[in-house]
Order: sequence, then structure tokens, then C-alpha cells
Amino acid sequence: MHLEEMKKEIESLVIAKGFYNKPEDIPRKLLFAFIELGEASDAWKKGLPEEKIAEELIDVVFYVLDASRLACPNINMDEVFQRKLEKNLNRPFQYGEGHRNKQP
Ligand SMILES: [Mg+2]
Repeated sequence: MHLEEMKKEIESLVIAKGFYNKPEDIPRKLLFAFIELGEASDAWKKGLPEEKIAEELIDVVFYVLDASRLACPNINMDEVFQRKLEKNLNRPFQYGEGHRNKQP
């Protein structure tokens, strides 16, 4: 399933379950994504099974895609992913991690 298909499935879920579904709910959805990141981190820290960690990470994806559905409804996220992947692939080795080479 691609990101755009996932967005449609998430929209159906949001409507079916009566979840927040207005542009003003975007900050709330992004906050929920952060909370789910914390849950994923906590699951990893506690040594919980990979399946539990994966489920929490998928919760993050749900909220991020749900937020994108409301924040940038005219943008194809599959295309953005592809462009961003190519952009990152064209960057130098360990870009953005210059601190690795610094001496104490
Ligand atoms: Mg969760």
C-alpha cells in the first residue's frame, strides 16, 4: 500500500470513528504523533517485543499521514517521498552529522 492509499484508509477510519477531522485539529494530531513516538521509545527501552515497537511506530505514521491529509491536502505524499529520497541520496556521506568528526 502506498502513502496516498494509506491516507484514504486513515480518512475512512477517522470519519467512521468520529475522530478529530478539521484543519484546526492538525496541531493535536502532530502532538499525538509525538506521543506515539514516546510510546515506541518506551517499548524499545523496556525490551518489549518487536511487534509492539512496530505497532507504536505505525501509530506515528497514522498520525503523520492524517495530519498531512489536513495540512496539505493537494500534495501527493508518494511523490514527496520519492523527491525527498532522491534529495537525500544526493547528499554527501554522513551529511548533517558533522559532530561525529569533532574531537573533544
Ligand atoms: Mg500507541
